Amino acid sequence: MTAATSNNRPNDLSAFWMPFTANRQFKQTPRMLVAAEGMYYTTDDNRQILDGTAGLWCCNAGHKRAKINEAVRAQLDELDYAPAFQMGHPKAFELATRLAQLMPGDLNHVFYTNSGSESVETALKIAIAYHRARGEGQRTRLIGRERGYHGVNFGGISVGGIPTNRKTFGTMLGGVDHIRHTHLPEENKFVRGEPENGVWLAEDLERLCALHDPSTIAAVIVEPVAGSTGVLIPPKGYLKRLREICTKHGILLIFDEVITGFGRIGTPFAVDYFDVQPDMVTTAKGLTNGTIPMGAVFATDAIYDAFMTGPENMIELFHGYTYSGNPVACAAGLATLEIYEEEGLLTRGAELGQYWEDAVHSLADLPLVKDVRNLGLIGAIELESIEGQPTKRAFSAFLQAFEKGILIRTTGDIIALSPPLIIEKSHIDELFGTLRDVLKNLD
Ligand code: PMP
Repeated sequence: MTAATSNNRPNDLSAFWMPFTANRQFKQTPRMLVAAEGMYYTTDDNRQILDGTAGLWCCNAGHKRAKINEAVRAQLDELDYAPAFQMGHPKAFELATRLAQLMPGDLNHVFYTNSGSESVETALKIAIAYHRARGEGQRTRLIGRERGYHGVNFGGISVGGIPTNRKTFGTMLGGVDHIRHTHLPEENKFVRGEPENGVWLAEDLERLCALHDPSTIAAVIVEPVAGSTGVLIPPKGYLKRLREICTKHGILLIFDEVITGFGRIGTPFAVDYFDVQPDMVTTAKGLTNGTIPMGAVFATDAIYDAFMTGPENMIELFHGYTYSGNPVACAAGLATLEIYEEEGLLTRGAELGQYWEDAVHSLADLPLVKDVRNLGLIGAIELESIEGQPTKRAFSAFLQAFEKGILIRTTGDIIALSPPLIIEKSHIDELFGTLRDVLKNLD
């Protein structure tokens, strides 16, 4: 470590209680990022780290994009903040229109939030309120999926299916049930792209309908591709079947596209890729390239109209955030969409998909690798776990990868990769070359 580094490093590493972090471990070997540009982060000891995760699945256009930075600066000089309650500012409407144009079908109405977690809470609340507005107030039950991640608020962890995120936090939301996750480790081992086996898993929803009476169910929420629990790609036909069952029973289908939105799997949204039209879509992350916190929920004409055609009240939906449609976030969002469009980033995952897929699967021969999965510009490498220590091996890979100059993400013993969409073949070679080195020498 250089002298400059020790000078720059904060003395107190306890005041900031870091989220989803092994805080005690971090204090022993802090990893500090001080700058970023394009595909690389810079550490405080002046090392370049190739970003294999687009920050946290969010910096899809890469780092330090001049267009976004200029838009943010200009917006701060013009209108720094404006409430969105009973008044508006032009950029919030402009961005909503642009977003609605990008989203297929009639998901034409955008409700702004500040994060993926808030988008999820918002969508769940809209679902219940929608049924009530139509005289079906008994529809309050929510269905999630095992191994689903929908953020960290109480609605999100309730419909979510990650035991560690739930077990310490007491009572979850009532009236929530789960269908099984879609990962079939034996049937779909080392599959490339969408797995062939497992469409029958969608029938779990019919079983829950029979169990609860479908007229009590408000909505089903799933990630089209489950990201945070290790990149679980849905079996062919599975999402279409969920759609059919929801339509049959009058249940709303919500796609949580916080990760898959904005080009991650080679189309603008997973809605395009799977050609399945949900009733709501939750987004965040790539919406502003990760620069300014912002999320958005897309709702169909039918949902929006249910609120707009009732008796005229002061307010149709009693929900919103101080920062809903924040002008600086809107400016960042508009600039981000321009970059995506100008550089064709929302379909780049399709162009590079084969090269990426071959690179991800090139690690399949390593003895510690138990499974490999990919879609668009997402990849997962699942490692054999050490008995009784189900996260240790991947975490140690993460630490060594960081030392060797690549940023990867781990969940359990799974390594998840999701680079900025500006990635070039040479970066893919660098990423997987280094990762191979790390995994070869892991134990
Ligand atoms: N939903 C999904 C599918 C996510 O992947 C995430 C974040 N990884 C969230 C919701 C929560 O987003 P945030 O961390 O912005 O609250």
